[in-house]
Amino acid sequence: MEDYPKNLTEFEVRFSTEEACRDYLYQLRWPKGFHCPRCGHERAWPVGTVLFQCAGCNYQTSVVSGTIFHGTHKPLTLWFRTIWWVIGQKNGASAMGLKRILGLGSYRTAWLWLHKLRRAMVTPGRDHLAGTVEVDESYIGGEKTGKRGRGAAGKSLVVIAAEVKGTRIGRIRLHRVPDASAKSLEKAVQQAISPGSMIRTDGWKGYCGLSSLGYTHVVMRNTAEVGVNLLPHCHRVAALLKRWLLGTHQGAVSHEHLDYYLDEFTFRFNRRTSRHRGKLFFRLLQNAVAVDTIIYKRIVKNVRGRKPLNHNM
Ligand SMILES: [Zn+2]
Repeated sequence: MEDYPKNLTEFEVRFSTEEACRDYLYQLRWPKGFHCPRCGHERAWPVGTVLFQCAGCNYQTSVVSGTIFHGTHKPLTLWFRTIWWVIGQKNGASAMGLKRILGLGSYRTAWLWLHKLRRAMVTPGRDHLAGTVEVDESYIGGEKTGKRGRGAAGKSLVVIAAEVKGTRIGRIRLHRVPDASAKSLEKAVQQAISPGSMIRTDGWKGYCGLSSLGYTHVVMRNTAEVGVNLLPHCHRVAALLKRWLLGTHQGAVSHEHLDYYLDEFTFRFNRRTSRHRGKLFFRLLQNAVAVDTIIYKRIVKNVRGRKPLNHNM
């Protein structure tokens, strides 16, 4: 049962208090009732307004423990409004925009929040792409084209996988890879695409082993006429991604944080036809409470203590 506000009015009425936000997160995190994150016990006693104490092991936890909201000093109502706003930004949200609209104290806070939310844009255990899928790589950042098969200075190499639905693009996956070697490309393909799928690539040697990994591999050989685009879906995604990075973020994306932006782009792209803002809101919050503590700690470690103004793209 997907229960979410349909519009701004419903949103504002529903999430006006901390209690209402917590209750909503509780439903998303423990839809079948409390589940102790430590011992798995299913009974707990409330302690104060926020904590629950496990009846099995006495461990105290809250509905936001281990989620992107863990340890936040700001009210959940503000987080919810931020998420509603972020979801509504058709072309993505910038930290400057968030700071201005919601009156967040600092650019840095806005920037941190957006990074946490981007992390929640990846659905844990998400499905792999299937059917016919185009795969290609693209260099992100920098003006000059890089040499294939090795790293290019000042650039990040991103593997693009795009489902082919006739002339339309289905779902996509984006993976940053260290290089265009078979080892890197095969790993990215296996993370993104179900075995048994048909994969279209160009003739690059890094893709030669795909058949032995259980895929039907079709090489789009360069026998077409000059100017014919052999992997049009991937090229379209690459162009949109680059335009988005330059437009919404004005190129202010550092290479070390590129993964977060790839997650946001993928989330928005794969839901581009969804007209229900509330549904996206629901999905993002659902992911946000499903992100486990270990992943959360890694993000914070990655995000904290780094200067956000590292504009090298
Ligand atoms: Zn327990």
